[in-house]
Amino acid sequence: MTVSFIDLAAEGVKGLRPYQPGKPITELEREYGIKNAVKLASNENPMGASPLAIEAAGNALKEVEFYPDGGGFELRAALSRWHDIDPVQITLGNGSNDVLDLIGRVFLTPDRESIYSAHAFVVYHLTTLACGATGRVAAAHDGSRGPAFGHDLEAMRALINDKTAVIYIANPNNPTGTWLKRDELEAFISAVPPRVVVVIDEAYIEYVDEPEFPDSAQWLKKYPNLVVCRTFSKAYGLAGLRVGYALSGPEVADLLNRVRQPFNVNAPAMAAACAALGDQEHIKRAVDENRRGMAVLAAAFAELGLNHIPSVGNFVSVDFGRPAGPIYEGLLREGVIVRPVANYGMPNHLRITVGSGEQNVRVVNALRKVLAGQTE
Ligand SMILES: *Cc1c(COP(=O)(O)O)cnc(C)c1O
Repeated sequence: MTVSFIDLAAEGVKGLRPYQPGKPITELEREYGIKNAVKLASNENPMGASPLAIEAAGNALKEVEFYPDGGGFELRAALSRWHDIDPVQITLGNGSNDVLDLIGRVFLTPDRESIYSAHAFVVYHLTTLACGATGRVAAAHDGSRGPAFGHDLEAMRALINDKTAVIYIANPNNPTGTWLKRDELEAFISAVPPRVVVVIDEAYIEYVDEPEFPDSAQWLKKYPNLVVCRTFSKAYGLAGLRVGYALSGPEVADLLNRVRQPFNVNAPAMAAACAALGDQEHIKRAVDENRRGMAVLAAAFAELGLNHIPSVGNFVSVDFGRPAGPIYEGLLREGVIVRPVANYGMPNHLRITVGSGEQNVRVVNALRKVLAGQTE
């Protein structure tokens, strides 16, 4: 008898597709026989991490035979000071993806639903299905009442019912770079039934420079159903070490900690995160460099006659007005890796991470060459 393991899999898992990460540089170089490829596909910080963080991780490696501090005392203490919040309200994750997973495991079951927007970060969908729950997708703005491709909070609110357990909001959102203002977001949260957990994923908050952008952690006292997710993967440049965290009310934090693996964040990662948090000058430089790079890319897109979605993150999705697959392939042959977003319902767009000055020139030149080649 042959066993069909797919039949044996949990119901939600049957329909899952593995998360598709950006293509690694080594893979492109192997497949295409290219050297000096650049990767602008995963919203990584082109300046790297703070040297202090790298030094701290190195020092932690000297004691790598020991289990890490499972409670993450020092990092939580540092985050507690940084956010002016009680350490019991902080849950550490192996990246914020881990935190998103914990939220699902605590609150999502096969008879419950989650809500997220079209074009929202795909992990909300993946974690919902993995928990056997049903994901309800709200149409995004079409540009008439709010920024095109952005979360439409009214549409999201209309999907709330008795089964709704979790609502995911990415602010700003990846891959669109769109964002929600303080007033509209708070109005939404205050209208959500208090039994529904509202997750605000702020993976790119360090890059945002908008006076009307919310400081959502301030709302935690008022809304015990709120969970704010942050990460060290983006502006802090520690994607390879995997550290993220949730800020929430103490009750939700206690539940998240019940399903958290005992040593989910490793010791070099926690040491690096503490040091990185202490080097805000590095973040400031990264944010400044990102602002300059974004302006360079936006100007180049305009010159090439391409529309893009205005983004407050460290990435930008550009519209080719036709299926972007061949352009993605053309860029690969030029040694430039960007991110296709067809799986986000955006088949005509490619998402490009803002790189270093040199990398931005490289992607613009490659784009010019590929577009010229394809219109001949
Ligand atoms: C990159 C990203 C994350 C962070 O993932 P980590 O697991 O912390 O590396 C979370 N949310 C969004 C929207 C992202 O783009």
